[in-house]
Amino acid sequence: MLKITDKSKCCGCNACGNICPKDAISMQYDNEGFLYPYVNENECIKCGLCLKICPIINEYKKDKNYKCDFIGGYNKDINILKNSSSGGIFWLLAENIIVKKGVVYGVELGDNFYVFHNRSETLNGTEKFMKSKYLESNIGLIYRKVKNDLDNKLYVLFSGTPCQIAGLYSYLGKEYATLYTCDVICHGVPSKVVFDKYIQELNISQKAKAVSICWRDKIKGWGPPNMVTVYFNNNEKLTTPSMKNPYQAGFLKNLYLRPSCYKCNWAKLPRIGDISLADFWDYEGKLSNDNKGLSIIILSSAKGVQLFNEIKKYIEYEFVTEQIITKKSRHVHLPPLNNKKRDLFFRNLNKYSFKRLSKKYIYNITLRKVLSAIKKNICKIIKK
Ligand SMILES: Cc1cc2nc3c(=O)[nH]c(=O)nc-3n(C[C@H](O)[C@H](O)[C@H](O)COP(=O)(O)OP(=O)(O)OC[C@H]3O[C@@H](n4cnc5c(N)ncnc54)[C@H](O)[C@@H]3O)c2cc1C
Repeated sequence: MLKITDKSKCCGCNACGNICPKDAISMQYDNEGFLYPYVNENECIKCGLCLKICPIINEYKKDKNYKCDFIGGYNKDINILKNSSSGGIFWLLAENIIVKKGVVYGVELGDNFYVFHNRSETLNGTEKFMKSKYLESNIGLIYRKVKNDLDNKLYVLFSGTPCQIAGLYSYLGKEYATLYTCDVICHGVPSKVVFDKYIQELNISQKAKAVSICWRDKIKGWGPPNMVTVYFNNNEKLTTPSMKNPYQAGFLKNLYLRPSCYKCNWAKLPRIGDISLADFWDYEGKLSNDNKGLSIIILSSAKGVQLFNEIKKYIEYEFVTEQIITKKSRHVHLPPLNNKKRDLFFRNLNKYSFKRLSKKYIYNITLRKVLSAIKKNICKIIKK
C-alpha cells in the first residue's frame, strides 16, 4: 500500500489516484500546502497498482540519446502574444490540435485561486489555459479522461509540468500515436498555504477581496521585471514588479517549493514532453519584437518536430544551440537550487505574519541592516 514517508519522492501527479480501481486514493494538502495522495485503508484492496504506476519509483523510459532541436521564437499574432506568458507558442499547439477535432488539456485558474487541470474541445475553452499560474495544479482524475479520448482515437495535446507529463505516460503504460505532450520548463511549484496567507493579508491591507491574479502581466512588456497584477472585488488592481511582490519574490528565491521539485527527475535533456516551452531570457540573436515575449522551444521527439513543422509558419523563429539554451535557462537541465532557509520559514509560518516572514526570509531585512542603513544616512547628513 502506498505510504509517503519521504516527501521529496512524491511529485503530486496523482497517477496513483487515477489508476486505483477502488478510488481509495484522494489528494489532500499537507501542512506546507502541497498535494499528496492519501489512501483510505478501508477501501484499499492492496493490489499494488499505485506503486507500479508511480513515475518516481518506476521511471518512464525515454530514448536518452535523442538529439533535441533548440529554437527561439514567438507567435506572429500580436494579440495572442500579449495574452501569453512568453512567446505565445502554447496557443499555436492548442489551435493545431483543435483544428484536427482533437482535445486540449491544460491548467486553469478557478475561483478562490484554485489551480487545476481541465479539458477543452474548443479554442475558446483553451484560452483559460494560457499564462503561467505559479501554483501547483490539481490533476484530479484527468488522466482517465485523456485515456478515454485516446482510446476514442482523438488527437490530444496534454500540457503541464514535466512530472505531470511523466505521470500521464506512466498511467497510460503504452504509446498512443495521437498523443502530443507539451511541458513547461519548470522552476518548481510553490506552496498553496503560503499563497493563501499572502492573499489574506493583502485583503486586509487593501480593504477589499482579491479575486484573481495575473502572474505574468505584460503591461510594461514581457520583462524583466515581470509584472504581477492582483485584481480585487472593488475593481481596483495592484501591479508590482515580481521581486517587489513578496509571494512571487519568495517563489523566485525557491523558498517554498514542493520538496520533490528540488530533486526533479525531469530537469534534463531530452525533455519528457514532445515539445517544451520556456522564457528565452537574455536572448542575443536576430529576432526582435519590442519586448513582447520570446520562448525557448525544445523538440524532444519526432512528434515534437512534426508539430513544430505544422505551426512554424505562424512563428518568427531561429534555431539555436544546446549550449546557448542550457546557459540561459537553468531549469531546462537542472532542478531549482535548495534554499537553506526553507525549513526555518515553514517552522515559523504559523507563528508570524507573511509580511514579517517576507522581511526576514525573502528580503533579508534584519535589525542590523536597518541600523546600518540609518547609520549610513546619518553619516551622509553629517558630511553635507
Ligand atoms: C509553475 C511554472 C514554472 C515555470 N518555470 C519556468 C522557468 O523556471 N523558466 C522558464 O523559462 N519558464 C518557466 N515556466 C514556463 C513559462 O512561464 C511559460 O509558461 C512558457 O514559456 C509557455 O509560454 P507561452 O507564452 O508559450 O504559453 P502560455 O499561454 O503562457 O501557456 C501556458 C502553458 O502553461 C501551462 N500551465 C500554466 N500554469 C501551469 C501550472 N501551474 N502547472 C502546469 N502547467 C501550467 C498551461 O497549461 C499552458 O500549457 C514555468 C511555468 C510554470 C507554470
